[in-house]
Amino acid sequence: MSLLDHLSAKLNALSAQSLTRSLRRADDGTAPRQRINGRELLMFCSNDYLGLAAEGAIAEAMAEGARLWGGGSGASPLVSGHSAAHEAVTDTLARWYAPHIPHARAIGFCTGYMANLAVVTALGDEHTEIFSEQLNHASLIDAARLAKAKVTRYDHADVAGLRELLATSTARVKLIVTDAVFSMDGDLAPVPALLALAEEFDAWLIVDDAHGFGVLGERGRGSLEHFSLHSERLILVGTLGKAAGLAGAFVAAHATIVDYLLQAARNFIFSTASPPAIEHALLASFALIEGPLGVARRANLVALQAQLRDGLMALITRHPRLGWSLTDSATPIQPLIVGGNAEVMRLSAALEAAGLRVPGIRPPTVAAGTARLRITLCGTHTAADVDELLTALERAAADQERAA
Ligand SMILES: *Cc1c(COP(=O)(O)O)cnc(C)c1O
Repeated sequence: MSLLDHLSAKLNALSAQSLTRSLRRADDGTAPRQRINGRELLMFCSNDYLGLAAEGAIAEAMAEGARLWGGGSGASPLVSGHSAAHEAVTDTLARWYAPHIPHARAIGFCTGYMANLAVVTALGDEHTEIFSEQLNHASLIDAARLAKAKVTRYDHADVAGLRELLATSTARVKLIVTDAVFSMDGDLAPVPALLALAEEFDAWLIVDDAHGFGVLGERGRGSLEHFSLHSERLILVGTLGKAAGLAGAFVAAHATIVDYLLQAARNFIFSTASPPAIEHALLASFALIEGPLGVARRANLVALQAQLRDGLMALITRHPRLGWSLTDSATPIQPLIVGGNAEVMRLSAALEAAGLRVPGIRPPTVAAGTARLRITLCGTHTAADVDELLTALERAAADQERAA
């Protein structure tokens, strides 16, 4: 069989299960209202939770950074790609996490995917057992596959189950690996309980805070601030393409761990450093995150979450036959679990026809039978925007019920 026939057969199989994915083209950059494939849509799908990507101060800082530093960094960090702008970013982050991680230091990466691959493969050597949460992000799953460590999966939020696994482990080094906020459910991991287990069983806790950074905590420092955690066993991965509104990622941890990553993390050593202009702009983003604008947008997010959840709950009650449900989320990620793949794509298409972009999420991103609309809120949405979404959903629900 030729490769092309082989791939065509696979593509046809995806299509038959309503699992085909496709790109949409943004024609301007003004989320949460954005022109997509030529039509203005109200977006409920961005992870730019504070709306910083559209903030004038960020664009100006990028332009200033480009004037100061030019385009790309030109080399990997250990060759010549590491700039004063990169260092200012990791110094700031080390300062942010010093209250949570004794002897904190930070190291930068181009993306969160890379940071996760780096930290899990560098630390997960043959003497190590990785305890990986069931609903971890794909990048953590791939990282665990690449690592030389033994990998043991534990059930979602199952602290008691993990406790048993840790108690019977004979590995020299034990690494617990978890998302802090689960990206497709929006719920929080029981991070304090996981840290207590780490302390009890001499394990270390890698927390992927992609959806907590900027969003959780009074000053937006994420889940460690939210839970007031303090331990040298905390290894924090933060990403900077979501609430920080730019791009990149970092690991903040005890200085010895960060020193080791610099020596051993292949994704750090063999990859070109991020453009310094982005790092320069990240400093502006950090100031916004911890300043009054960040505080106000986080407060707005909390209010919008309550409004959306109340509205969705009422909708579910009005249409019990559809069998829709919510997750236990206290974050801007508020999924509406619909069930079937075709059903969720119909719903997403109905919303799009009404001028709203809310993507349907299907397997393998989520478990079979739990396809969902992944609604995400942004600190620049208004109460009227949420009402518009709820009204369109009510109409779509009534239509689906009639068709069922
Ligand atoms: C988005 C995401 C990542 C990857 O971060 P990028 O910077 O987009 O590569 C890692 N972990 C989680 C939980 C994410 O949601």
